[in-house]
Amino acid sequence: MALLKPRFKRSPLKAPDDFRNALGDWFSGEGKDYPWRRTSDPYAVLVSEMMLQQTRVAHVLGKGYFTRFLEAFPDVKSLAAADDSRLLKAWEGLGYYRRARMLRATAAAVLNDHGGIFPDDEAALLALPGIGPYTAAALLSFAFGKPSALVDGNVHRLLSRLMDDAAPIDTSATRKRHTDWAHDLCDPENPRRHHYAMMELGQTICRPGVPRCELCPVAKFCEATEPQNLPVKKKRAAITEISEHAIWLHDAEGRVLLHRETGSRRNGLWKLPLRSQQECAVSPLIFSDAYTITRYKVLLNVHTGAGHQPGEGDEWISREELAAIPMAAPFRRAILRLLADL
Ligand code: SF4
Repeated sequence: MALLKPRFKRSPLKAPDDFRNALGDWFSGEGKDYPWRRTSDPYAVLVSEMMLQQTRVAHVLGKGYFTRFLEAFPDVKSLAAADDSRLLKAWEGLGYYRRARMLRATAAAVLNDHGGIFPDDEAALLALPGIGPYTAAALLSFAFGKPSALVDGNVHRLLSRLMDDAAPIDTSATRKRHTDWAHDLCDPENPRRHHYAMMELGQTICRPGVPRCELCPVAKFCEATEPQNLPVKKKRAAITEISEHAIWLHDAEGRVLLHRETGSRRNGLWKLPLRSQQECAVSPLIFSDAYTITRYKVLLNVHTGAGHQPGEGDEWISREELAAIPMAAPFRRAILRLLADL
């Protein structure tokens, strides 16, 4: 492939102050104003970090999830006391509901073990449930203004290119090397701004695919010659396609038959009652939609419920209750669409 940019040999590690200044100046002028960047409250920082794991910034911003969650649970005390239904409802639409319960467990530990005050050292943070090295580093820098090594997917890509590192990023050796580089590059005077800038540069300019090197504030420190080919990844796990079959039953009062999940990843969430493909063989299909979860691509097929009976765990839910109960987004979408057709 043709060269995209000239090669520079001035590694940021050789001139870290110049690199930090160029990056920091750019971010001070161009950095985006996200709601979680206006606070250094460790609880709010933790909520944002949990939400942004596996969920894109635009999605979290789009429906105001962060602000609404903090309105529902403004501090560790209120979150630690939250019942499952309220908690999952506040998290609805973000997916990966395990994160919500883990967040509540973290809040309970901060309340019970630290009197409601977040510890500001790495070892104590790592001892809290749900907090790994990445989240601990985020809290240290964003809440407490301490230097840390913070490497998300955007920063991995940025570091691969800055250092012209063609080793696969999804190996522990590369992750360790990038963490060491991130630590050495972190601005001790302003770690908060530095990490936000690294993440945003990776997100907006050193973006996936072809980066916008012509706009890059640290281009003169970048050693990559073919950045569009970096980072390198090991082969991805194959996506498995599966189907699920649900029934749509409503009664004369407009109530809908739903099922409350137990003992699974979505424990406590409501959905349409599922039946086997065989049981739905003669039930006309009235709605279908595909969604992805982890390595599965799921085709949700909804059939008319005529001839089906409520099963164990199925309940009739009124329209008013429907709005208040927690439900995974694919089922919420299906139900709203089917109600509109009634
Ligand atoms: S945008 Fe281009 S110049 Fe800047 S770090 Fe990425 S690859 Fe290097």
